[in-house]
Amino acid sequence: MDGGGGFALRWALLGCVRLCYNPGFPRNRGVFPPHGDSIVTAKILDGKALSQQIRAELAEEIADFIQDSSVVPCLAAVLVGDDPASQVYVRNKQKACDQTGMESKFQRLPEDTSMEELLTVVNRLNKDASVHGILVQSPLPGGLDEPRIFQAVNPIKDVDAFHPENVGLLVQNRPRFLPCTPQGVQQLLLRSGVETAGAHVVVVGRSDIVGKPTAIILMQRAAGADATVTVCHSRTRNLPDVCRSADILIVAIGRPRFVTADMVRPGATVIDVGINRTDEGLVGDVDFESVKEVAGLLTPVPGGVGPLTIAMLLKNTLHAARLQIGT
Ligand code: NDP
Repeated sequence: MDGGGGFALRWALLGCVRLCYNPGFPRNRGVFPPHGDSIVTAKILDGKALSQQIRAELAEEIADFIQDSSVVPCLAAVLVGDDPASQVYVRNKQKACDQTGMESKFQRLPEDTSMEELLTVVNRLNKDASVHGILVQSPLPGGLDEPRIFQAVNPIKDVDAFHPENVGLLVQNRPRFLPCTPQGVQQLLLRSGVETAGAHVVVVGRSDIVGKPTAIILMQRAAGADATVTVCHSRTRNLPDVCRSADILIVAIGRPRFVTADMVRPGATVIDVGINRTDEGLVGDVDFESVKEVAGLLTPVPGGVGPLTIAMLLKNTLHAARLQIGT
């Protein structure tokens, strides 16, 4: 019983015992079998249901806020160009505002909008006291300087948390707003009972919007954080080995089904941030079918991180309204 087979049998027995006593098993830290043993079938994390729960909580908070202040929180969305995916995202965000009792404004601009024209729109929204959150939908058409536009948004209305002032506050662990997708990832982990403190989190992707802020949030000294974080990107050597060392693997690279079962440690939590449009529909960056045979917890695409992103945008807009009226 000392060979690999003996270990696998002991692990399987241990799993059965833990299943009997703990319906939440598999947990995502603690004992793992050696790499290569795939004996776990993942629990699927239902981001849609979780976001509905959060939105119901927010609807109550918003109703209380309106009653106390007579102010209706308002999100203004700016969409430049005709990108179909961006149109869907903006529509969903507006719908979510309506459903939770907030107001939304929508400014649609043509593809050939100049920097000056876009800056004028942003400045007008900055000065509009009835607008509490401003969202400039990314990606902007080529030729528009995205960082400059994000920097033009009044930091107190910057519900996406892309303004350098808000990024700086986040890095110093005194965030004004947490960026929406990384905050959604953290909420998924927290509300699913995944222990992050001391866990090895591997984030694949280092973009300013997802990878980098996710890593920063999870490494902070804070509840739902305190993780040991490794960030990977296109130049990372031995990426499969690094991914396999993760207790929690977060993937945000924009490559359909890139992460396969052999890159996942049995029992690990896998969060798939990717949204890729393929001939077969929307798919994530994780090969769901193979990884679900190995991971302990896994998010689907669609229905995983995406709905949480929108819920966090609503949360940030309410917070922005509170900051602006001083409650
Ligand atoms: P970016 O294109 O800005 O960044 C991609 C990152 O992935 C880069 O850091 C890049 O590395 C890295 N990368 C690309 N290929 C590889 C590879 N083969 N191996 C390792 N690393 C790689 O993308 P975003 O961060 O904006 O988005 C990532 C995904 O998340 C997309 O599918 C996007 O649609 C989705 N998304 C989902 C959201 C949601 O709400 N669920 C919200 C936002 C994005 P390098 O820096 O070296 O180039």
